[in-house]
Amino acid sequence: MTTLAGIKKVTELDVENKRVFVRVDFNVPLDGGKITDDARIVEALPTIKHVLDRGGRLVLASHLGRPKPGKTEGLSLEPCGARLAELLGVEVHLPDDCVGDSAKKVVFDLRAGQVCLLENLRFHPEEEKDDETFAAQLAELCDVYVDDAFGCVHRAHASVHALPKLVADKACGFLLEKEIDALGKLVTAPDKPFVAILGGAKVSDKIAVIESLLERVDALVIGGAMANTFLAAKHLDVKASKVEGDKLALARTILEKADAKKVAILLPVDVVVAQSIEAKEGRAVDVGAIPDGHMALDIGPKSLELFAARIAGAKSVFWNGPMGLFEREPFSAGTFGVAKALAGASAFTVVGGGDSAAAVKQAGGEIAKKINHISTGGGASLELIEGKKLPGIEVLRA
Ligand code: ADP
Ligand code: MG
Repeated sequence: MTTLAGIKKVTELDVENKRVFVRVDFNVPLDGGKITDDARIVEALPTIKHVLDRGGRLVLASHLGRPKPGKTEGLSLEPCGARLAELLGVEVHLPDDCVGDSAKKVVFDLRAGQVCLLENLRFHPEEEKDDETFAAQLAELCDVYVDDAFGCVHRAHASVHALPKLVADKACGFLLEKEIDALGKLVTAPDKPFVAILGGAKVSDKIAVIESLLERVDALVIGGAMANTFLAAKHLDVKASKVEGDKLALARTILEKADAKKVAILLPVDVVVAQSIEAKEGRAVDVGAIPDGHMALDIGPKSLELFAARIAGAKSVFWNGPMGLFEREPFSAGTFGVAKALAGASAFTVVGGGDSAAAVKQAGGEIAKKINHISTGGGASLELIEGKKLPGIEVLRA
């Protein structure tokens, strides 16, 4: 079940004077100890402010990066604590561990309206092992539990799974609530026509998503490098384009299934090609006329028009995966064009996937603001859209 049924919201919790443990996702990009993008911290502010405004004693916890056993340098949450203090205008207390005496000392000294940020949860390998003893140590630091780390709920890790099992009073934060609500709607009750747009690097990354979407969508639009494999499966010669040779049979099966379910599949009719990914410019050709030695690196203008028309006629749209090598300017028009089409659509529009979300932001203007929901979780959004039960969400249900 991918809905909020049975899950309390942070607004329904009594937090006054309580130690409120909030699992956030402060897994920010760092360069030489400096935060290069603080979006994840900024996005957590509504839940943080809500708890503080209502007199909670706030205990924040997060992981950062992938520390190797025994190695902690460069992956302290200290820079996140400093940034949070700037954003909130209050002191953020930083114990030098997430459990044990130093954490307890800081947490037990907190007064209403004060904040501490525990040190990186992954400094303890038990976190990723969903270890119950470790979770019990974390539980000593909380009266109530709030999860606002959507990017982590697809993993059964101690801070999002074993810990909330031990806490009676628990809820989702604003970010998590919005994610479950938006993605859940597309799983349980999408307004029709429901159009899914898939792209990105590989079919193999997205098999489960494609199969599950086929059960629910009216049309599946396929672009990006993934489309090459489908075109090749239809016996087109895509020349030097990236094709997953071992996925041709799978692509044919998907096309047959779609046909049987009366799901329209839209593939590119033209593509932007070049002889190398370093090329300074590309040119649009029909998919049947890719010159020797050239590869498809974006969808062409005719394809974009076709795709945009489908989007314009939809009532729900889910998009995952760029239409081309959008990181390079000559091959970005298809991806940015689809982003623009979503922004202009009257449909309920949701974007999921790390690169897709980045592309929407780069598309510029007011585009990101005009999309109903841009999911912050890469893996988690795809697993949720597949209709899977995610451990960190299920555990929150009463
Ligand atoms: P997401 O993170 O949104 O799920 P993916 O990781 O599946 O998306 O795919 C994103 C990557 O796919 C991008 O780096 C993009 O450059 C690449 N890509 C998309 N289309 C092509 C193409 N035709 N040729 C090469 N790379 C492509
Ligand atoms: Mg990606």
